[in-house]
Amino acid sequence: MTDAEVVVVGAGLTGASTAWALARDGVSVVLFEAHRFGHTLGSSHGSSRIFRRIYRDPLYLRMTAQAQRMWTDLQDESGTSLLQWTGGIDHGRMRDPEGIAAFLAEQPEKVPHELVSAREAEDRWPGMCFTGPVLFHPDAGTIDADATVTTFLTEAGRHGTRLLPETPVERIDVHGDTAVTVHAGEESVRAHSVVLANGPWMPDFLPASGLGIDLPPMQVTQQHVFHFPRREPGTTWPVVVHKEDMQVFALPSGSDGGPRPAVKVAQHDAGPVTTPGASAGGLDPSWRDRILDYVRAWMPGLEDVPVADATCLYTTTADEDFVLDRRGPVVVASPCSGHGAKFAPLLGQLVGDLARGRRRPEPQFALDRPGRTTGPRASAPVPG
Ligand SMILES: Cc1cc2nc3c(=O)[nH]c(=O)nc-3n(C[C@H](O)[C@H](O)[C@H](O)COP(=O)(O)OP(=O)(O)OC[C@H]3O[C@@H](n4cnc5c(N)ncnc54)[C@H](O)[C@@H]3O)c2cc1C
Repeated sequence: MTDAEVVVVGAGLTGASTAWALARDGVSVVLFEAHRFGHTLGSSHGSSRIFRRIYRDPLYLRMTAQAQRMWTDLQDESGTSLLQWTGGIDHGRMRDPEGIAAFLAEQPEKVPHELVSAREAEDRWPGMCFTGPVLFHPDAGTIDADATVTTFLTEAGRHGTRLLPETPVERIDVHGDTAVTVHAGEESVRAHSVVLANGPWMPDFLPASGLGIDLPPMQVTQQHVFHFPRREPGTTWPVVVHKEDMQVFALPSGSDGGPRPAVKVAQHDAGPVTTPGASAGGLDPSWRDRILDYVRAWMPGLEDVPVADATCLYTTTADEDFVLDRRGPVVVASPCSGHGAKFAPLLGQLVGDLARGRRRPEPQFALDRPGRTTGPRASAPVPG
């Protein structure tokens, strides 16, 4: 039996960032990860995720500003480049760029943005098609998710975190409100609190744990992403959210797209329901065909043969809000619904503060928030 102040379960973006945030504050941490670090079975692998500031929700808007500052700090502190600025665009009949601009104009949190016509957008970003107004905002770009997980773990280890890969947590014993014992194989660690950052494993793990903590309804889906080379890789493409009948996101691929500049394209709002063990990386050809049709119709600047593809798991709540809450000494941290990566360093701080009892849970992210079984709010967050 060893002791720590906080045990973290899971080394995806959430668990790794929490260990980093706690350890740099001098907190003793033990982190258990069921698989090898950087594995591809969960939600945090790959060289590209979108950072963007466009949310129709004041809380997330404020959080994007905090996260943006923290990405800069993380890069400075680690000496690693993790975020590339490209700018971002929103467009499409169902995306309502003008409505987003009107919402942003009313917010105290200022997000630089401009509306441009479809014609101007086609001149500015050749290789994409537009049929209506386009919202551009400059504070957007791509995050290297693999490098970010590695950086969090390296920095956490440098600050003394005990990192235990390939050590699945099997049982958690709760002793009142301020102590737990976490059991994983030969290891048992007693701590003041435990952070569950199990990602898509959470909906099975938590009910089976016997901790008596109810989750809001969550659905795990398998998402398919495809990387297409640029035909004329001159200008940098922005990150894109486009909604007609389906919602698509696109962003520069990073190293997953191979040596030539490529763009990752994927559907956000649908994917086959699955469980972590079941999907094991298999790719359904019908999802490939959908994205190929999309690329041919809307992104003629891309070659219509993908050079790479991958699958990844979303864990989505009905309202698409995160779950960041605490019951006794157990913190439940599930920032997914397809939009958690951009907040990674901030989430480490927020979850670490919950674990130390330094912060009250945000009501919007509570386990038992009202209306948690209903569908998305009108102002529901947006992907990527
Ligand atoms: C295809 C895709 C694209 C995305 N694009 C964007 C984007 O552009 N922008 C954005 O902001 N967000 C995006 N996201 C969302 C973002 O990537 C996720 O919010 C984030 O990766 C969630 O990380 P996590 O740590 O919560 O989960 P995970 O990365 O799945 O980590 C959970 C970890 O817990 C471990 N674990 C589980 N059970 C146990 C146990 N019993 N013991 C020990 N360890 C355990 C697992 O092995 C795993 O490593 C995207 C997600 C996907 C899937």
